[in-house]
Amino acid sequence: MAIIVQKYGGSSVADIEKIKKVAEKVVNCHKNGNKVVVVVSAMGKTTDNLINLAKQITSNPPTKEMDLLLSTGELVSVALLCIAIENLGFEAEGLPGFLAGIKTDNTHTKAKIRTVDTTRIIEELKKGKIVVVAGFQGISAEDSITTLGRGGSDLTAIAIAGAIKAEICEIYTDVPGVFTADPNIVPDARIIPVISYKEMLEMASAGAKVMQSRAVEFAQKYHIPFLVKSTFVDDGGTMVTEVDFKEGAVVSSVALDENQAKITFFNVPDRPGVAAKIFGKLGEASINVDVIVQNVSTHGYTDLSFTVNISEFEKAFEIAKKLGKELKCKDVTSDTNIAKITVIGLGMMNHPGVAARMFKALADSGVNIEMISTSEIKISCIIKKEEGQKALKAVHKEFIK
Ligand code: ASP
Ligand code: MG
Repeated sequence: MAIIVQKYGGSSVADIEKIKKVAEKVVNCHKNGNKVVVVVSAMGKTTDNLINLAKQITSNPPTKEMDLLLSTGELVSVALLCIAIENLGFEAEGLPGFLAGIKTDNTHTKAKIRTVDTTRIIEELKKGKIVVVAGFQGISAEDSITTLGRGGSDLTAIAIAGAIKAEICEIYTDVPGVFTADPNIVPDARIIPVISYKEMLEMASAGAKVMQSRAVEFAQKYHIPFLVKSTFVDDGGTMVTEVDFKEGAVVSSVALDENQAKITFFNVPDRPGVAAKIFGKLGEASINVDVIVQNVSTHGYTDLSFTVNISEFEKAFEIAKKLGKELKCKDVTSDTNIAKITVIGLGMMNHPGVAARMFKALADSGVNIEMISTSEIKISCIIKKEEGQKALKAVHKEFIK
């Protein structure tokens, strides 16, 4: 039997009209002879609102209870979608994560999926029902409700599609696919029909928020292709799958991340162990460091800069200032007025000269580069925040014809 997994995000089930529309789409897919498993997120901003409620009690609520609280958001969507499907005259079975067989570890608020036991889902499908599963949640070995990290319904859908060997996993969202750049800034941006898991992952860390990175990593690891599509527009769609680098685009997309901050150590002693100490301390505080640049050293001293996400900046800067004193640096400074522009493309692996083209496009529009970082399929530059949008347009124009 051909099983199709469809996932609808929070914006697709934000109100009753939208839920009815989703019910119609699901029923149509069922009527076309498919077995349908639907995964839903919480309605609209529900998860944020629930977090706010808990924060009105304490700024640091216990994670186990947070999971219990947050899991309710998806349950509301499941129940309402089942009601809407049955109202159209079809049978639905709504399952919270634990009844859908999503078994996780004990890491509350960012649990990892251990196994997916599809017995119950298959049973219900065999009865001819449409199965609606609550995204973003599972059950730990200790029998408590867990959640899978923000955006975790993507992961639920991918994991079920993998476990059940679905024909296809469709991720429905409020954009018609993955774009070559943010279409709100670059009007010429277009939808990418096929893209590799690798590029999709780089796009997430480049600041393009299309899907939860953990879900993409999971899809890559277990070879589960998926389609990203709009719930409300029929055209478009981006297939995310394995792509040979020889067939990959030299640059498939350009991303702008305006949520970066830079910290610089001036005159740090240039001796073994210093960088290990600085980044060790940041790591202990679970701070993700992005771009790192160290200068050539003079007289045994050097300057060292790195960037972090703006949400972790204050914590990182506190740690950096303390370290600066310990290491007797001349100064530790910060700059929150920066942005990161990134070009991504599998084809970069066998096409030299991409960096030069990117730097020229930036130079021609008068944009100064402050830091550079590269991997085999991406090049990132740190620039001034106010030049971000201009830079994005220029670099997109250079590469995407
Ligand atoms: N409702 C959860 C969140 O807002 C999970 C999801 O939407 O995928 O993060
Ligand atoms: Mg989401």
